[in-house]
Amino acid sequence: KTTHDTAAHGGDVRLTGLGKTYGSFTAVHPLDLTVPEGSFFALLGASGCGKTTTLRMIAGLEEPTAGTVRLGDQDVTALPPYKRPVNTVFQSYALFPHLDIFENVAFGLRRRGIRSVKKQVGEMLELVQLGEQARKKPHQLSGGQQQRVAVARALINHPKVLLLDEPLGALDLKLRRQMQLELKRIQTEVGITFVHVTHDQEEAMTMADTVAVMNGGRVEQLGPPSELYENPRTTFVANFLGTSNFIEADVDTRSGDDIVLKAGGGKLVLPSARNSGPTAAGGKVLLGVRPEKISLVPADDAGRIPEGRNRITGRISDSSYLGVSTQFVVDSPVCTAFEVYVQNIDRDHRLAPGAEVVLHWDPAHTFGLDAAQDAD
Ligand code: ATP
Repeated sequence: KTTHDTAAHGGDVRLTGLGKTYGSFTAVHPLDLTVPEGSFFALLGASGCGKTTTLRMIAGLEEPTAGTVRLGDQDVTALPPYKRPVNTVFQSYALFPHLDIFENVAFGLRRRGIRSVKKQVGEMLELVQLGEQARKKPHQLSGGQQQRVAVARALINHPKVLLLDEPLGALDLKLRRQMQLELKRIQTEVGITFVHVTHDQEEAMTMADTVAVMNGGRVEQLGPPSELYENPRTTFVANFLGTSNFIEADVDTRSGDDIVLKAGGGKLVLPSARNSGPTAAGGKVLLGVRPEKISLVPADDAGRIPEGRNRITGRISDSSYLGVSTQFVVDSPVCTAFEVYVQNIDRDHRLAPGAEVVLHWDPAHTFGLDAAQDAD
């Protein structure tokens, strides 16, 4: 190991073989994961996938049945929550109703016996933009404001890592969107590590630098939001983050950096770097493409499609005007109910249900999965 590897920062979170079983049930399979200091990290997954258990093991609120938790150079696995340099914000933020906002935020300092709290609390309230509300009681604030108080209260003791367990789950959609941006701003400003648990893919993608998608107690894929969206490696990840169209295809040959696939008599190109499926001839690949990456033209205009595009023919079965885009559903011999979102489409009577069309897209927007992966 180089010294670079071993010099951990105080806010790094390193999970090594970390696992949790309840009797014979495995909630979290042994997990290796490093969250670098100062990053905004999201654990994303459906209910029951083990994300909260993972977060609670980092907090010390749940005892792992295997593995270790390190914060920076310190192994904290055996430490109780209050001795770890972390703090947690929960969905039910439970402010003290009888204390005003100032005293709610000051609580952590006063408990440590610190007398002069005014400056620090004032700065914290400014950080969460509640400087004007200091003397109000929690019930006089909106849900979003109360959640910001909870964040200020958690940050006042300068934790190295802030853990957030579905903190926006109780807010309505509009407020949740505002708070996502607000939390991201706060994280950038304080610069400490945030580990955020959510089941909402849009929330994870809006806020986090790195997202770990969990499924059945395992991390299925980890990476920046754009990578997870553009190049998912499993059907679960592809479907959890947005809509995907899939075509079953067979590997035909290689051509430079590309793999050529056969599907329904036609050929489709898949860049090798975007293929998580088999590469040998005859291998079964599930080829994915996002609905907004596809263009659609009437079959009569197929001659105008530029060279080098992947193309398939089909018939429109449905179209819906969505404002920013028009959604078409196309049935094709290689894939039924292909979804296509087209922006700025010219009104064309030839694009009505029943019409023969050609779908085409840049092969760079294709991803390949292992078609056998779902068989087990
Ligand atoms: P949610 O968003 O619903 O909280 P989650 O992804 O955070 O879901 P966890 O709370 O981590 O999931 O739970 C993972 C699995 O472990 C679930 O199937 C849950 O039922 C199970 N589980 C959690 N706590 C216990 C417990 N104390 N005893 C037995 N099983 C548990």
